[in-house]
Amino acid sequence: MFLDGDLVKDVTAHPETRAIAETMASVFDLQHRPDLRHILTITTDDGEVQGSGWMIPKSLDELIQRRQVTEILARETGTTITRSPEHGAISLLGMHELRHDFANGDQDRLDAFDEIWRRCSSEDTAFVQGWIDPQYDRRKPAAQTDLIRVVEKNGKGIVVRGVKSIATQGAYANTILVGTFPRPGLSPDQIMYFAVPANHPGMKIVCRPSHSKHDRENNPLAGRGDELDSMLVFDDSFIPWENVIAQGIPPAATVRLFHRLSQFLHWDVLIRQGVRAEYILGAASNVVDSLGTGQIPAVKDHLAELIRFLETIRAFLTAAETLAVPSSWTGTYRPNSLQITAGRTYAAQNWQHMHELLQDLCGSGLLMQPTPADYANEEISPWLNRVHEGVGFTAEERSRIFRLVWDMTATETSARSHIYERFNSAPWFVTRTQLFDRYDRQREKMLALKLAGVDPQKAQVELGQIERPWGSHLDAVNKS
Ligand SMILES: Cc1cc2nc3c(=O)[nH]c(=O)nc-3n(C[C@H](O)[C@H](O)[C@H](O)COP(=O)(O)OP(=O)(O)OC[C@H]3O[C@@H](n4cnc5c(N)ncnc54)[C@H](O)[C@@H]3O)c2cc1C
Repeated sequence: MFLDGDLVKDVTAHPETRAIAETMASVFDLQHRPDLRHILTITTDDGEVQGSGWMIPKSLDELIQRRQVTEILARETGTTITRSPEHGAISLLGMHELRHDFANGDQDRLDAFDEIWRRCSSEDTAFVQGWIDPQYDRRKPAAQTDLIRVVEKNGKGIVVRGVKSIATQGAYANTILVGTFPRPGLSPDQIMYFAVPANHPGMKIVCRPSHSKHDRENNPLAGRGDELDSMLVFDDSFIPWENVIAQGIPPAATVRLFHRLSQFLHWDVLIRQGVRAEYILGAASNVVDSLGTGQIPAVKDHLAELIRFLETIRAFLTAAETLAVPSSWTGTYRPNSLQITAGRTYAAQNWQHMHELLQDLCGSGLLMQPTPADYANEEISPWLNRVHEGVGFTAEERSRIFRLVWDMTATETSARSHIYERFNSAPWFVTRTQLFDRYDRQREKMLALKLAGVDPQKAQVELGQIERPWGSHLDAVNKS
């Protein structure tokens, strides 16, 4: 693994990576907490205790428990980790659903998937994924580009050459899944799904510069470390068949897989965003309390908007659960994809505004906060303690409250997390367009035609490009 040109041999020891390694370890340790164990772990039919991230929800209650897992991890880490272990697990769950489809009749590939699932769930592997490719010239069909491809295939495995441009947390993973993002014009040698250990020979993990800060007192979020987005370089890397889930399958299967995967992934994203919205509302309320500005009408309006944002995300999550139905193939409970897509789009579109509202409430205090070292300096601390004292908070406490807002909205850490919310998995505005493409508006058209005095049967059928419509066919979508 490379960081700023250096080969990092141990992420648990390097000054730029140590903090998040500790945060990740603390996430796994939560499973031992007596008050959380019943939610964060499950016992399999074989009597093995596993992390509940790997649960395959077979009822609404289990789906709700699965949501609680993500909420707990997000709350306990201050939402600094976007790819906590349960997020990796849920991406593999999407593949689990369709594994027969993309094994494409090849029993060996099905066995490979089942073994990867068994091993990862049993070991509660930190599991991340790299799907997205470098930004090649989009005017060309994919087959004419340098996208990652299989350059050799033999009885023992495949040899892979090329790059996946982003795998968040690649540096901290046990297992890395490489998948194919559906693109027009892919050739069979460019379609591959495999899972390898992070220290797999011939794979290099090249991280972007770290935003980690070494001082948690001054940087309550960045001080917990930076999960680091990384590039995966496959330098003619040999991948044994037992690690290969699929290769050269029909392009249509890559589309189906990505949609199914997104359904679970985006749900997980939305749950974490709900917790972020809780933190924003909480931080805003503490700022207002400490300044004593709570009775000012404009301040109340700001807080009311933050409440509306949080409750709207919760409403989408509630609807996604209420409309969840079991898959008719596997019995797995799947949250409703329309509600998730609409919710994720809503949240992504509004983050920037929520940050602005939070900053609006702070005034200059957002910037002008003494550090712990300032408070420790006897020459200046009497003045600092006097002018920064908050309503119901000491000066040092009030500074902490404001420094959290700074780290949430105005630092490299917050900028990266804002970019992440808008782009991860797919740009939010591309997802928004899917609402149009996949929403069946037929019933609404007919209603309005009838009201207009036009024969409702003249409503034009123009269902989306994806095989199943959303909207009035919610059950049909979820049963597919
Ligand atoms: C912080 C962060 C973490 C990420 N982590 C991961 C990860 O762990 N694993 C992973 O696989 N990926 C990850 N991604 C990648 C993410 O999924 C992609 O950034 C996203 O899908 C967009 O792809 P791209 O960056 O290649 O942009 P491109 O596809 O090159 O698009 C660039 C721009 O062109 C325009 N554009 C391109 N195509 C369209 C279209 N169809 N419709 C409308 N506009 C279009 C848009 O303006 C778009 O922003 C991460 C991204 C970020 C920013």
